[in-house]
Amino acid sequence: MVSMWKVDQILQLFAPFDCLGCGLEGSLLCKVCQYNCVPPLSGVCYVCRNATLGVVCTTCLASKNLTTVDVATAYSGLAVQLIGRLKFSRTQAAAHIAALIMDRRLSSSLAGVVVHVPTATARVRQRGYDQAQLIAREFARARTLPYQPLLRRLGKTRQVGANRQERLKQLQNAYYCPWPHRVQGKSILLVDDVLTTGATIETAAQVLIKAGAAEVRAVTFAQKA
Ligand SMILES: [Zn+2]
Ligand SMILES: [Zn+2]
Repeated sequence: MVSMWKVDQILQLFAPFDCLGCGLEGSLLCKVCQYNCVPPLSGVCYVCRNATLGVVCTTCLASKNLTTVDVATAYSGLAVQLIGRLKFSRTQAAAHIAALIMDRRLSSSLAGVVVHVPTATARVRQRGYDQAQLIAREFARARTLPYQPLLRRLGKTRQVGANRQERLKQLQNAYYCPWPHRVQGKSILLVDDVLTTGATIETAAQVLIKAGAAEVRAVTFAQKA
């Protein structure tokens, strides 16, 4: 006999989503809400907090191993809800929608091998998937770019409550590239879900540059204010 729990699970699998923005049945975030309800960026450099045209000013960018940093949306409102569903409700469809918004908002000139920033292994085990990997794969598919999981994560790092400096320290050597020959001379598009202090993506970029990448451009779905 099939338990009620199982029936619930199966029904959930086939039930159409209601839009997080307007409640319309059929998609986790309908097309209208994808266009209209995701607020624009604040225009503040994530490193020095000065006003800038992009998410990072040229002065700060020069000190990183990153050629550009692009973000699709501010981390507020519907973007928070979407990432929340992906992280805490096992709603993998949210990765597809995040990637669609990235595809629409980010420069069409962004090219290279798409690589995701690996999420902490404990979280991946808990969720059953790596949300950054799902977004990276979907983004690569949307742009018909190659996707390769070229970064691995070492051991346990906890980021909760840590400030920028502590995070940088924790993250040192947290990533490694087991296949430097696949990275050498390549342009990499490094994908993560949310840009906060930038420490994560900067450390990951450093590993790829050390492995021989020609350049690393970072793209994230959202940016925390
Ligand atoms: Zn809607
Ligand atoms: Zn700056």
